[in-house]
Amino acid sequence: MPYYIKRKKKTTSAKTSRKSPTLSTLTHRLDDVFSKYIRLRDAMPSGLFRCISCGQIKPISQADCGHFHSRVHMNTRFDEDNCHAECRACNRFSADHIIGYRENLIKKIGERRFTLLEFKAHQNKQWAHFEIEQLIKYYRARVEMLKKEKGIDL
Ligand SMILES: [Zn+2]
Repeated sequence: MPYYIKRKKKTTSAKTSRKSPTLSTLTHRLDDVFSKYIRLRDAMPSGLFRCISCGQIKPISQADCGHFHSRVHMNTRFDEDNCHAECRACNRFSADHIIGYRENLIKKIGERRFTLLEFKAHQNKQWAHFEIEQLIKYYRARVEMLKKEKGIDL
C-alpha cells in the first residue's frame, strides 16, 4: 500500500475521536451547494433568470432550485436534468406549476432525456458517504467557477 493512503492507527485522543457527519447532515450540505450550482447555472449574466415553470423573468435572488421529480426520489435528487431555477411563487405556492415545468423541461432537455429522467427517478438509490462527499467537493468547485464566469454571487 502506498504511503499516502496508509491509514493512521486509531487512537482514543480527543482530537481524533471527533465524529464524522451523518449521512443526513451530508445530504443537506449537498442540497445547499447543489441548489446554488443550479441557480447559478440558470442565471443570465445580467443577474436575471427565466422561471422553468411560469416563464417569467425575475432576479436570480428570487430563484429556488426546483425539482421536477420531488426530492424523495433519491436517484434524481442531485440530477442536473431534474433541477432548474424556478421562481419562489411557483416552487412554494403553486399547486399546478408542474404543468408548465413539464412542458418547458421537455423543450429544454428534449423528449429522450425527459423519458430517461422519468425512468431514473423511479430507480432506488442509496447514497454512500463517500459519494455525497465527492459531490459536495465537485459542486463547490463548479459554484466557484460559475461565480467568476458570470460575475454573480448568491
Ligand atoms: Zn415561476
